Amino acid sequence: MDIARFRERAHALVEHMATYLEEIERRPVRSRCRPGEVAAALPATAPEEPEPFEALLADLERIVLPGLTHWQHPRFLAYFPANSSPPSVLAEMLTATYAVNAMLWQTSPAATEMETTVLDWLRRAIGLPDGFSGVIQSTASEATLCALLAARERALDWRGNEEGLAGGPPLAVYASAEAHSSVEKGVTIAGFGRRFFRRIPVGEDFALRPEALEAAIRTDLDAGVRPCCVVATLGTTGVGASDPLEPVGEICARHGIYLHVDAAWAGSALLLPEWRHLAAGVERADSFVFNPHKWLLTNFDCSAHFLRRPEELTRTLSILPAYLRGRETGSVIDYRDWGIPLGRRFRALKLWFVLRSYGLEGLRAMLRRHIALARELAGWIREAPDFELVTGPNLALLTFRYRPEGAGGNAALDALNERLLNAVNDDGRTYLTPGRVHDRYVLRVSIGQARTEQRHVEEAWRAITEIARGL
Ligand SMILES: *Cc1c(COP(=O)(O)O)cnc(C)c1O
Repeated sequence: MDIARFRERAHALVEHMATYLEEIERRPVRSRCRPGEVAAALPATAPEEPEPFEALLADLERIVLPGLTHWQHPRFLAYFPANSSPPSVLAEMLTATYAVNAMLWQTSPAATEMETTVLDWLRRAIGLPDGFSGVIQSTASEATLCALLAARERALDWRGNEEGLAGGPPLAVYASAEAHSSVEKGVTIAGFGRRFFRRIPVGEDFALRPEALEAAIRTDLDAGVRPCCVVATLGTTGVGASDPLEPVGEICARHGIYLHVDAAWAGSALLLPEWRHLAAGVERADSFVFNPHKWLLTNFDCSAHFLRRPEELTRTLSILPAYLRGRETGSVIDYRDWGIPLGRRFRALKLWFVLRSYGLEGLRAMLRRHIALARELAGWIREAPDFELVTGPNLALLTFRYRPEGAGGNAALDALNERLLNAVNDDGRTYLTPGRVHDRYVLRVSIGQARTEQRHVEEAWRAITEIARGL
């Protein structure tokens, strides 16, 4: 494809992109594809000869779009949002066009220095104190893994990387029973062993109980196990609960334990001064992660990871072969030492586009709108005689269940709600995620798509009640 053709086709593709977004509400939110359907529509081998671009475009409509679950649909209420925005999409086009590898400062100074700068903008915007340095990781999972590795090396006095973990003291990691699965995954990858992962009980509010954390630490100390890292959550995936950072940080400080805060979803809400109290005590954290790629209009992937002492992470991850040594090594930031992959995309560009296009006030307005919509929906659920609000709303996340008169005991109610969830998701007007709260089956709603307005939540609620009453 020569550049003249590229220009022509790029315009055609932008038409397709804009139309997709304009007409997205006509599509079912969740793909109706059966397993194997997309693969069956694709040939078994790559074409030997070049094909016309028009054929590709046609196959987008024929094969790809029916196989998509539309995350940018304003009635997408499942999981957490992975919202996006036109400025972010445009920046992604530029990132793909420049196609630099920002592994070192030298391999694109603008990518490195913009990353440092926009992450500092974000740090200030969420009220994280001075002294935290930021880096973009692909995902919160990866940031948490990096934190666990740095915590491990610090606890082992930097000997783990040299000598391996066999023969060293067992190291324990603590997180609440409601913590995300990525913590357990990180614990296993970082070599702690699942046996040394402590899931700390939560209270009525689903937040980690500090006295239970203290007790678990004491039990480990008595047994000769070294407490190494606590991963606290702001905004759990299940119900949006937040662990109390103040007492947790105090416990970590007293025992010399590394504190990592996973605020993957809820971190965006810290842009709102009225929600800053959720993070009270965060100044004690060693590292903190949140995902602008969830609730801050920035395309996946963009996870903002802030470190109190980045040198602990770079000491853990840095390896310097001759071909990666540059004149500036040591005097500039080489982000390759701040994460697991060597190669890095220019991801700061989309954050820069988003922050400048909306301003912090524009982002705050969106966050407040979503939180208000969740409150409104919670009100409708409370008023419906045959429905019950189970948790929340915590920020823009709530869980509820259908509970009609005479529906039977808990097992029957669980089964009924599972049928309801499947029927709602098959229907296509909205898309919800199941959950379990106090071992009961619940339906979980998370509001956060960029263009979700009141009418979309109304339409979704109407679909849910209609389908429930028709079961
Ligand atoms: C979504 C989520 C994660 C995982 O995020 P990725 O960026 O997909 O790795 C981790 N922790 C919490 C609390 C989350 O909500």
